Parts: sequence; C-alpha cells; structure tokens
Amino acid sequence: MHSSPVPRAFSYGTRATRIVFGVGALDGLDAELQAMGAHRVLVVSTGGRSRDLDDVRAVLGARVIEVFTGARQHVPVEVVRAALDVVRTTTPDSVLSLGGGSAIGLGKAIARETSLPHACVPTTYAGSEMTSIWGTSEGRVKQTGRDARVAPRLVVYDPALTVTLPPATSAASGMNAIAHAVEALYAADASPVSSLCAEDGLRRLAQSLPIVVGNPANITARVDVLIGAHLCACALDLTTMGLHHKLCHALGGIGLAHAETHAAVLPYVVGFNAPAAADAMRRIAEALGAPSATAGLFALSETLGTRRSLAELGLLEADIAPVAMATSAASRGNPRPVTEDAVRDLLVRALHGD
Ligand code: NAD
Repeated sequence: MHSSPVPRAFSYGTRATRIVFGVGALDGLDAELQAMGAHRVLVVSTGGRSRDLDDVRAVLGARVIEVFTGARQHVPVEVVRAALDVVRTTTPDSVLSLGGGSAIGLGKAIARETSLPHACVPTTYAGSEMTSIWGTSEGRVKQTGRDARVAPRLVVYDPALTVTLPPATSAASGMNAIAHAVEALYAADASPVSSLCAEDGLRRLAQSLPIVVGNPANITARVDVLIGAHLCACALDLTTMGLHHKLCHALGGIGLAHAETHAAVLPYVVGFNAPAAADAMRRIAEALGAPSATAGLFALSETLGTRRSLAELGLLEADIAPVAMATSAASRGNPRPVTEDAVRDLLVRALHGD
C-alpha cells in the first residue's frame, strides 16, 4: 500500500466505449462493426499502410465502401476538408481509423463534423483512441479540444499489427505513452483510477519497450507494450495534462514530429516539475525502477535511443521565445507554476540535448 495522499474527493466521467484486445483481434472486427450498426464504413489511414489495409478489406469485405489514405500528423485542416468531400460523395454510416494518432485524429475530425460513429484499430502507442480530445492544425497553429462525439465507440487492439512498427517509431511512440502516465500522476484532477492506470502502464512500458526496440517481432513484449499504452491512454483521458503536453502542443504547431518531441522533452519537464510533485515523482521512479523520475527517464531514452536534442527535430533558436510565451500562457494547472523564463531555459537546454 502507498502511504501517499489519496485525494479526499475526486470525480471522473466514463464513456460507453467497447474495447477488444488480443493477438488476432482483427479477425473479429467485422462482427464488432456489425454489432455497432456500421454497415457502410469509410476507412481512414496514413499512406504506406497498404498491407494492413489489405487485411482490413479481407476481413470486412463489402462493409468497406471507401478508403482514404491522406491522414497526416497534426490533422491539417486541408486534409479534413478533403476527407469530408469523400464523406459527402460516398455517404458512409461510420468511420474506421486504422493506424497511429494521425489516422485516429482524422477519424475524430470527421466524427466531429458529421457525428458519424467512430471505430479505431490503433497501431502505435499514441493513445488517441481512448480520448475525446480532438486536434487540427492550420499553418503554424494547432487547436485542440474535448468533444464526446469524437471519442471512438469501438477500439480493436491487435498487437500483431504493431510488429511492423520500426524500432525508432516504437521507441518514440512508447515515450509518448509514458508522457501521458507521467502527467496523469501529477495532475490536479488525478483520481485513484487514473493513477492506477498510469502506474501500471508506466511499469509495463519501462519493462517491455526496450525489448520491443531490440526485437520488434517479440510478440509477448508487443502485447505488454500495447496494454501499457492503452492504460496510459486511459490515464490521459481521465486527467488534465500539464506543462509537458502544452509545450509539445506548441512545438507540434510549428511542425516538430509529435512522438519524437514528446520523447525529447519529457525528462526536462519532469526535472522542472520534480520539486513540486514529490509523491508523483516517487511513483514514477518506482515504476521505472530508477533512483529518481528524471534519472529514470533520461536513462530510458538512452536505452531506447530516442533523440534528446530538439534542434535535431527542427527547432530553431528563433522559435524558442514564441513557443515559451504560448506555453507559459497555456500551462495553468501544472504542479509547479510555469513562467515564460522557465520554459525558455528548459528549451535552451533541450535544443542541444544538454
Ligand atoms: P502517426 O500516426 O503519424 O504514425 C507515425 C508513422 O508510423 C506514420 O508514418 C504511420 O503510417 C506509421 N505507422 C503507424 N502504425 C504503424 C505500424 N504498425 N507499422 C508501421 N508503420 C506504422 O504518429 P503517432 O505518433 O501515432 O500520432 C501522432 C498524432 O497523434 C499527432 O497528430 C498527435 O497530435 C496525435 N495524438 C492525439 C492524441 C489525442 O488524444 N487526441 C493523443 C496522442 C497523439
């Protein structure tokens, strides 16, 4: 038992989302969609996923009325418009997103505009499938919000679909999942349920992600990482994220890759928040099997080979001041008060991975 303070009062909402998890779960997707009342399905994905799309077509047959493969990171509004044109011409009764957060993000944007029911087959560890959070980007600005209409009604996880995820993508995406758990543990609206999900998710990822990165075909480790990512996503949905997610949001807006940015920034933000969130830091360190949360995250990123330098991801020195301003304005609720100077200092260190 933890002697940590349990919130005296808490509240959280739950949704009617059906979750199906297992190696080979894709084979049951047709029956699941049938039960959901989805008969004319528009499938959305990113490009380059033709093998998975072939598998989905083989399982769903005539239930698939159209496939749109134009999904991109951060859901650009022009992609949403193109997908909505397809919706208008093909009149689906549901949307199925197949892939990582980019495909699911597009599925959410369509659901938000059309109220079509949304089902997902996630193939990365980003966790968007478990949340009602939508996001779109226009130019250098990314907008997000919460809307119950976008939350998938059905999520089918098949770890067999994740063995093709390359080591570097697996590593960065896994760190993205870890970031959800970390910020859920120190969130002002954390509950016993969100913290339980976060700690177990973190533990599974810390143990099995290095195995997956070393041997992408290890299905036992893939199962464990995907369960971990699911739990971290549940924790994300149940809480309000802090400085880390606000900062990555601003960096995503200027075009940095989502998962890689999360992986690079997380140890720095945890170092900043550590003095203000002792209990969460103890839990994170314990789950990572490390002497401290910050040391554990730097060590894990070293083991996984994720990049520490934001310059390598495309951040310019000139971006630092505007990103710091946008982030500090948005970071209310972070355990440690966030000033523009503090974010600037953090970014200066992270720019070159110091
Ligand atoms: P992604 O969806 O862009 O996927 C990264 C790359 O991996 C893509 O090229 C994709 O085609 C490929 N890929 C996906 N699955 C694969 C597999 N199994 N095998 C081989 N290749 C595969 O990246 P992501 O990190 O999953 O998602 C990032 C996006 O998700 C961002 O836009 C981010 O804002 C959003 N996101 C949203 C939430 C939310 O709750 N709304 C949560 C997390 C992330």
